[in-house]
Amino acid sequence: MLNLSLYQKNVFRNYKSNSQIARVLTESWFSSEMYCPCCLNEKISKYPNNQKVADFLCDSCKNEFQGKSSSKTFGKILNDGEYHTMLSFVKNNLTPNFFLLHYSKEDWKVKNLYFIPKFFINESIIIKRNPLSKTARRAGWTGCNLLIERIPKEGKIYIINKGEIIDKSNVYNTWKKMSFLGKKDPSTRGWTSDVLKCVQQQDKEKFTLQEFYKFSKKYLQELHPHNKNVEAKIRQQLQILRDNGILRFDSRGTYSTIT
Ligand SMILES: [Zn+2]
Repeated sequence: MLNLSLYQKNVFRNYKSNSQIARVLTESWFSSEMYCPCCLNEKISKYPNNQKVADFLCDSCKNEFQGKSSSKTFGKILNDGEYHTMLSFVKNNLTPNFFLLHYSKEDWKVKNLYFIPKFFINESIIIKRNPLSKTARRAGWTGCNLLIERIPKEGKIYIINKGEIIDKSNVYNTWKKMSFLGKKDPSTRGWTSDVLKCVQQQDKEKFTLQEFYKFSKKYLQELHPHNKNVEAKIRQQLQILRDNGILRFDSRGTYSTIT
């Protein structure tokens, strides 16, 4: 299942550049091997080339996926498309889910694959790049980076980890646990995701509200500069996390993480 080169016998004869070979092999691999992590439908189907922002569609639950692949491990930052387009996708609920596939160029095997549910792609993680220079072919075009390091751990769901295939039900259950975010307004769920990330960064099983303000208020204010009352927003978000079984609120005024 992990061997990419099984899926296109003639690719090495038909293409010269490694990036073209990788694109053809990974696309065929996704169409042959990848299931839908949001409903466990056995297949996802490929959109015709360049037709959509997304590359694949689940015919059953209609989730869309964009696949990115690299022979290097994915780090903290992911290059993505045009900045303003991406922001308008977020605001209008049109962002696709992402698959990030890391393969080896030596043996064309899948090493790592993880899935970022679309409801974790929010304004807080989209950073504007410098526009292309006047002399560039697409002068003025402004791309964006996705800061995946700002996403909570439930937003990076491993499907294959160091060559090991993770059980489908684990993948699905993590998605399911967080899927309440998909039903929220894009501006609200960005906050929920940012607050959850701070809860995890604290690395504490129990914490008080005051401790949490101290730890996260400055950072969250910087992420949301237009918000006039960050503390109220934090309290609201902790409540959302509690209502959805991610946190517990004890009688002694402490929050606990539920693992
Ligand atoms: Zn599906």
